[in-house]
Amino acid sequence: MKDVEIDQEGCIGCGSCYALCPKVFEDDGSGTAQLVEKFRTEGAGKGEVKDDIDCVETAENSCPVNVISVS
Ligand code: SF4
Repeated sequence: MKDVEIDQEGCIGCGSCYALCPKVFEDDGSGTAQLVEKFRTEGAGKGEVKDDIDCVETAENSCPVNVISVS
């Protein structure tokens, strides 16, 4: 499994992560990214996904303010 974290305070709502990886990321309704509920482990910004979900790295690399981390 891979840990995925969004520092939601720093998100500027550009939409890249949900455009590129919509199965994991979504808009929370107010212009901030959050994780889709089934992947969350703690709050809306922390979770984990299976190793074969590669779009999380694509989203991480696309974030203009570098608030997504995958480890
Ligand atoms: S790519 Fe980054 S700034 Fe853009 S919506 Fe996602 S978390 Fe927010």
